[in-house]
Amino acid sequence: MSDTHHHPHDGHGAAAARPRKQEQEDASTEITEVAPGILRSQLPISMPGLGHVNCYLLEDERGLAVVDPGLPGEESWTALVDRLDRAGYRVGDVHTVVVTHSHPDHFGGATRMRYETGADIVTHESFRTLWDVAELEDEEDSSMLEVNSDDDRAAALERYFSRPNPWGGARSGPSPEFLERMRKAGESAGGVFAVQPTAPLTDGQTVKLARREWLAIHTPGHTYDHLCLYDPEHGVVLTGDHVLPSITPHISGMSPQHDPLAEFFASLGRMEALENVSIALPAHGHPFEDLAGRARHIVEHHEDRLDIVRDAWEDLPNGTVRDFMRVLFRERSWGDMAESETYAHLEHLREIGELQRSDADGLARYAPVD
Ligand SMILES: [Zn+2]
Ligand SMILES: [Zn+2]
Repeated sequence: MSDTHHHPHDGHGAAAARPRKQEQEDASTEITEVAPGILRSQLPISMPGLGHVNCYLLEDERGLAVVDPGLPGEESWTALVDRLDRAGYRVGDVHTVVVTHSHPDHFGGATRMRYETGADIVTHESFRTLWDVAELEDEEDSSMLEVNSDDDRAAALERYFSRPNPWGGARSGPSPEFLERMRKAGESAGGVFAVQPTAPLTDGQTVKLARREWLAIHTPGHTYDHLCLYDPEHGVVLTGDHVLPSITPHISGMSPQHDPLAEFFASLGRMEALENVSIALPAHGHPFEDLAGRARHIVEHHEDRLDIVRDAWEDLPNGTVRDFMRVLFRERSWGDMAESETYAHLEHLREIGELQRSDADGLARYAPVD
């Protein structure tokens, strides 16, 4: 499922001009013990801004639990079998698969693992078992979307006033190549888009893995169904994509939540409040220690975005989502993902009473509340 069109090294988009982030590093074959009984392995992915997904191996007397077993398809599965081997295990040792959230680089290997070994599939109870393929192309990294300079914002406002007609609100959707690739991956892996959790967790429930007692923490925001696991005794947190070390997770406006950004803020607050944290284990990038500081930083990033919207709205009377997107983001970032994240910010400002929304001809428009 490598996406050459969006590959970070092909010079397309912003990544090429930026220093390489740890989340972009190619998947190493190395296995490292990051806490007693917890091994970090890395599986290859090729998504914008990402070079690997961490698949943590949790050891206990029964064998292994694997957390986030990579993308659907043969390439990732082969890498997973290789990593298990390097760690001294076989596929048959895996008794549990934990999936932190419903993105393909995390759930991809789950159904096949269950098919091969009968492993339990642990997710949050809200985990979606069916996907709208239009959402699967969303990227993980919000900071891939480059924020406009002051001049760019002025130019966007000029375009707003000079355009003949308002834009329609339809998503342009995934490329035909992407849809074809997903269709093929679905065929070869026997319905990868029908992951059926066998052990769904509710918030506050505990699960025993790696000889530790983990507390399930529902952390909606990046996706609605995001799950973090926290071992309070040793201060270990599996953070999935909720808190990543150097990129800010994408917030999708396409969500069953009224205000996904508010949910994300609350979920980040819960990370900040965790006591005794010694190590955070993210799904991309290196393990890190300052979980509270990183969570706070991500909140500030979105507060800055909200301020850009506030600065723009006097000049965008009844602006559409797309109008605000064009003010917020550089042209090369425009598209469904930027629009979706802009929508999340606008809806947040509406929910907290700063903006009002009107809908005519199927197009949402936003204006400040007077
Ligand atoms: Zn994700
Ligand atoms: Zn991810």
